Amino acid sequence: MTAELFDTHAHLTDPKIAADLEAVLERAWSAGVRSMVVVGYDLPSSEETVRLAARYPGQLYPAVGLHPHEADTAWADVLPRLRELAAAPEVVAIGELGLDAYRGWSSEANQRRLLEAQLQLALDVRKPVCVHSRAAETAILPQLEAFAKAAAAAGLPLPGVMHCFGGTLSEARPFVELGYLISIAGPVTYPRNDRTRELAAGLPARSLVIETDTPYLPPQGMRGQRNEPAYIVETARAVAAARGELLSEVARVTTENARRLVAASLAGAAAR
Ligand SMILES: [Zn+2]
Ligand SMILES: [Zn+2]
Repeated sequence: MTAELFDTHAHLTDPKIAADLEAVLERAWSAGVRSMVVVGYDLPSSEETVRLAARYPGQLYPAVGLHPHEADTAWADVLPRLRELAAAPEVVAIGELGLDAYRGWSSEANQRRLLEAQLQLALDVRKPVCVHSRAAETAILPQLEAFAKAAAAAGLPLPGVMHCFGGTLSEARPFVELGYLISIAGPVTYPRNDRTRELAAGLPARSLVIETDTPYLPPQGMRGQRNEPAYIVETARAVAAARGELLSEVARVTTENARRLVAASLAGAAAR
């Protein structure tokens, strides 16, 4: 039997994927991927994730949000519409949101304001967050700590997921303690990336999820190509090797954890 896998971060509305989406999905199902979170990064992609996921109930789950790269735009104008989307019952998370000190495509002050506005929105609708944190693992901790505590007090069972976590195992620990899931992506397969293999090896099973970040970050065997959800198998294998576990075990725990993320949005909405 093929292992059942859950891709917690895929941009299926990206033009590189949208052109042959049906074939991409067919390959994903054949590879054992049963579910995916489809992630928005601006208002149009967020609208599109909700429309797309509605065609695949129980398989595609939408997340809506504004990427830190959007922080210098007039984002306050689109927040009311984002709020409407966020409140829709099928939307499982707010994101991707966060801080990106690596690209620096928008000012840090604006990134923090945009992050704060969306954390408040997530709290209002009581849904977990999907966090993009690049070269910002220490900088983002205080805001995510405050969010996790407020979310728990508001009845949300799980604060969210740290997508494509690029930090070390010790940088991951405070997020794990706050209840965040830590998502491992294709870079865990890169020959020189011992840091992410140590992270994958050391995380508690209950905190571990996997993703592709389609169409970005293809695993080692597909480098230079467009990434797609079917390739998550290579990432799952690398995680299994790092942990000294069977692929089936990694598939089981990561899928179970991803389902807890989906369940959290329902539980949070019920507590509203
Ligand atoms: Zn991201
Ligand atoms: Zn992304």
